[in-house]
Amino acid sequence: MGASGPPRPLYSEIKTNLAAVKARIAAAAVAADRQPESVTLVAVTKLQPLERVEAALALGHRAFGENRVQEAKAKWPELRARFEGVELHMVGHLQTNKLRDAVALFDVIESVDRPKLARSLAAELDRSGARPKCYVQINTGSEPQKSGVLPGEADAFIQACRGEFGLPVAGLMCMPPIGEEASLHFALLAKIAAHHGLGELSMGTSADFEVAVTFGARSVRVGTAVFGSRSAP
Ligand SMILES: *Cc1c(COP(=O)(O)O)cnc(C)c1O
Repeated sequence: MGASGPPRPLYSEIKTNLAAVKARIAAAAVAADRQPESVTLVAVTKLQPLERVEAALALGHRAFGENRVQEAKAKWPELRARFEGVELHMVGHLQTNKLRDAVALFDVIESVDRPKLARSLAAELDRSGARPKCYVQINTGSEPQKSGVLPGEADAFIQACRGEFGLPVAGLMCMPPIGEEASLHFALLAKIAAHHGLGELSMGTSADFEVAVTFGARSVRVGTAVFGSRSAP
């Protein structure tokens, strides 16, 4: 690490956290008769100090998640210029007026959740030629304040994405209600994905990523367990 790199103690803290989360993912995978390598750890960097993100990059981690286009745009072009092979996931609510930036920034867009967005996103892919992977977000708990397609509308929406809207869908994402048994939500997401032959399942956060792995997560989105608590927005 050069003088401009993250300070030593921070570097070892992130190193320890990354190793611990990966070990827990691996143990959960093995217990579920799965290959540990079949699960991608997406380290969620929203509202984290830049030096923590730099430490993870310096340690060789490459899959990251952000929940706001504006915030991602402020940090990732510069980080990508310094570190090769970054895979950036959009995991937050996406406004149609941010689509051009989002498609330019992200490798995976996990939050496709309404017809207007799906249509505009398909048009932006045509226009730009970019090919991010797209996931549909399912509001498995039918929470009014949360983004995502309602479970009862998921089949029709996924079909419309693939047909009418012309948007290739590679997987599903969910964020279970706080305080509820996450496994029920993960099982529901896995069932909808299997019904549509979708391979990518993004589920599980710091609170429940091992459960998500048990229920078939292909990627887990972990923020605080890797980077520590976030600053206020
Ligand atoms: C912030 C966030 C995460 C990570 O949550 P932690 O509790 O920090 O692990 C995962 N998914 C989404 C959609 C998020 O916004």
